[in-house]
Amino acid sequence: MKHQAPFCTASPFARRPRHAYMRRMSIRPWRDIARRSSRQIMVGKVPVGGNAPITVQTMTNTLTSDAGATIDQIRRCEEAGADIVRVSCPDEASTAAMPAIVRAAQVPIVADIHFHYKRALEAADAGAACLRINPGNIGSSERVAEVVRAAKANGCAIRIGVNAGSLEKDLLEKYGEPCPEALVESALDHIKLLQDHDFHEFKVAVKASDVFLAVAAYMQLAEAVDCPLHLGITEAGALIGGTVKSSIGMGNLLWAGIGDTIRVSLSAEPEEEVRVGYEILKSLGLRTRGVRIVSCPSCARQGFDVIRTVEKLETALGHIKTPMSVSVLGCVVNGPGEARETDIGITGGGNGKHMVYLSGVTDHHVENADMIAHIVSLVEAKAAEIEAGRAVSMDVTHGKAA
Ligand code: SF4
Repeated sequence: MKHQAPFCTASPFARRPRHAYMRRMSIRPWRDIARRSSRQIMVGKVPVGGNAPITVQTMTNTLTSDAGATIDQIRRCEEAGADIVRVSCPDEASTAAMPAIVRAAQVPIVADIHFHYKRALEAADAGAACLRINPGNIGSSERVAEVVRAAKANGCAIRIGVNAGSLEKDLLEKYGEPCPEALVESALDHIKLLQDHDFHEFKVAVKASDVFLAVAAYMQLAEAVDCPLHLGITEAGALIGGTVKSSIGMGNLLWAGIGDTIRVSLSAEPEEEVRVGYEILKSLGLRTRGVRIVSCPSCARQGFDVIRTVEKLETALGHIKTPMSVSVLGCVVNGPGEARETDIGITGGGNGKHMVYLSGVTDHHVENADMIAHIVSLVEAKAAEIEAGRAVSMDVTHGKAA
């Protein structure tokens, strides 16, 4: 029996009060995001859903059968902050490479399977932490049972990935075109197959490249199920266009409290997807990692070349994982105000001499020639100070303090 979806497609903001979402109150309530309550599952060692941090995923684009190249790419994604990495398993050579890939990776590996259920069995046995597979697409109920058995035996989660571009024929005939109701019905059909086999460690995506369609489908799905949701605006495009589209689509959903794990889908290297994913979460205050730079667009008042300085700083500070903020403003019009809100601030002054703020307070001057190296050293020192403070508080928590 097909599921009729009695959902409206109002904007996420209009729908928020209907959710029994978790409240995260702060002294600045206009920044609060009430996350949808979802069940938590484990993808390897990484929790997804519940009150776990929203995770950032990406997908390799090397030949999975080339384990060396795939491991190198996974390493770069880990460095960029990926929590989970997906690899395609289109053939036996790919699943044969999986054990080496899983062993080398520090993050859980998701095996991406389409149609060939045997690849799912092989990937589960090879140590994949999650299978991305749509149980409705692999044939008989016995095959679904085999995949579920392999997943249970190996502690694998499953990710159902409905995509507007590959909707089932009967749903296209029923609805006439990909629409939110069709995507949700497809997801519910796949979910039912797993539940019928007593499998509940799953998360679901209903992706579309059309941002309106994807957002409406996720909104409906969020009302219909309690499993974790994997967000994505699929085939979003190249780096800039895809980033904007993903930010609008996923940003809208995340702001409405929906989404437990995200993948930004760009025609760009996977590390870039990870960076964009983090920037989306950082913009909404949902995750923090590394340096958040606040900078002005610059104008005739700038006391130094803001654009080139920020470009250089982004590269030079890429290795910092400790969350902190740095403001880089060209002059005193907005510089002091932004510096008050950031850990380290620089505001352009006259004659190539610029004011440095530490914890929002004016501290000393720096000259043009030394500026980049000076800011990098201040950030590194601040990161070390924050990490040392954390280590002490962890010692206290664990009763190790002297
Ligand atoms: S902070 Fe100063 S330099 Fe930067 S855009 Fe504003 S007025 Fe121009």
